[in-house]
Amino acid sequence: MMAPMKKLVVSKFGGTSMNDAKTMALCAQVAHQKQSSVVVVSATSGTTNQLLELGLACVQGDNEKIKSLISTIESRHKKIASDLGLSSSRLAILDQLLQELQSLAQGIQLLKDNSARNSDALVSLGERLSSVLFTEALTQKYLNEKSPLIVELLDARKLIKTDHHFGRARPKLSEIEKLCEANLKPRLGSTVFVTQGFIGSTIENQTTTLGRGGSDFSAALFAEGLGADTLEIWTDVAGIATTDPRICKTARMLSEISFTEASELATFGAKVLHPATLMPAQRKNIPVFVGSSFNPEQAGTWVKKSVDSSPLVRALALRKNQSLVTLTTPQMWQSSGFLFQIFQVFHDHKISVDAVTTSEISVAMTLDSTETLSTEVIQKLSEFAEVQVEKNLSLISLIGNNINHTAGLAEKAFSSLPGVNIRMICQGASRHNFCFLVSDSVSQEVIQNLHHQFIDSQ
Ligand code: ADP
Ligand code: ASP
Ligand code: MG
Repeated sequence: MMAPMKKLVVSKFGGTSMNDAKTMALCAQVAHQKQSSVVVVSATSGTTNQLLELGLACVQGDNEKIKSLISTIESRHKKIASDLGLSSSRLAILDQLLQELQSLAQGIQLLKDNSARNSDALVSLGERLSSVLFTEALTQKYLNEKSPLIVELLDARKLIKTDHHFGRARPKLSEIEKLCEANLKPRLGSTVFVTQGFIGSTIENQTTTLGRGGSDFSAALFAEGLGADTLEIWTDVAGIATTDPRICKTARMLSEISFTEASELATFGAKVLHPATLMPAQRKNIPVFVGSSFNPEQAGTWVKKSVDSSPLVRALALRKNQSLVTLTTPQMWQSSGFLFQIFQVFHDHKISVDAVTTSEISVAMTLDSTETLSTEVIQKLSEFAEVQVEKNLSLISLIGNNINHTAGLAEKAFSSLPGVNIRMICQGASRHNFCFLVSDSVSQEVIQNLHHQFIDSQ
């Protein structure tokens, strides 16, 4: 009788899971138990932020800060290496990477050039360092279990090919698939790969990154490229909850959620998944499991194409630090092409717009605060209309099913928010999302009230 085919599992462990030698060992146990073939890891928690800070300190020539950041990063990783008992060959790789960190910082300082391209090269070191350490942790696990499988460190940049949009590069899907097919797939029977999330490279091998929180996306790209059976996202919470458990004490874990709902949830602020993660999974119909690397036995959440229930409101999302840009001009009245002109400006400057509403002579749209509304952009927009920018706003989203065809939803939502100024409402385009803007200062309370109104009572 033929042995049953082993399921192909790609798993990803986030920053908090990569915190120290102890958490790395826990993750290694999970990866081994789940028989993951490709393990994608984030940088150790907080390191990406420190590397970004380092880039800034380098252009500012702040020598003290540069020294202290480099030494913090160095000692943190060396301590984990020593706690894990890193092999001499991996120690040599780690030292080389730490040397590269010094050189890149020096280069950025000398050239006073912390461009997105240089910054990507610098921040890539976060994942490159953690993955060396995790390879050790996983190797030890496999050796202890006397497994015939070999654990190998893989440079994700060889497979995750992207465009040249440094800082938020877009993957070249067919390229990635071809490379995974040719270089990884034939070796999966004998090798377990540990690789980096978040990073990729251009066709000319310049290092790129996929945007903050992008390791989930990397794992999904590997899963798609390999046609995996399951993608597992291991993080610091036991799944996707009805809302961020840090905001609402009564938030509860969902056992399942559809691809569409989870994509809306991630796009509209739930940090638990990078917004682009579910697209590759959806394209290949790969079920995604989200669970806690600290409590892997807890049930977790399955994200799938079809799910058993379709509640009106499944979850709530909060996206803070939004800007509302309102453009007003009488010329818009009964004219054509006005919206085209405006969106051309955003397109030219690679600015992503989230929610949009229009009236007869004005159009309002929300942008994430990470989008740079430079004076040049504002000037360009001012050629068409009067521009008003309001900051410190939060986008609140109710995510569920049949939302745009259910009477009384808005009434139920707003009746639980007396006295809250609603700056903008977006509804109608999606069956799965109803969202509105409020001030950042009341946003958490708004989520708590809505949770009470729609979810606690279910
Ligand atoms: P990782 O480093 O593992 O990628 P993240 O910090 O990026 O982890 O994402 C996990 C965090 O997402 C949780 O600690 C939680 O606070 C937050 N989060 C926001 N919304 C949700 C939600 N609906 N369900 C679960 N976690 C959420
Ligand atoms: N290390 C990267 C970040 O902090 C990517 C990730 O963790 O997903 O944004
Ligand atoms: Mg994350």
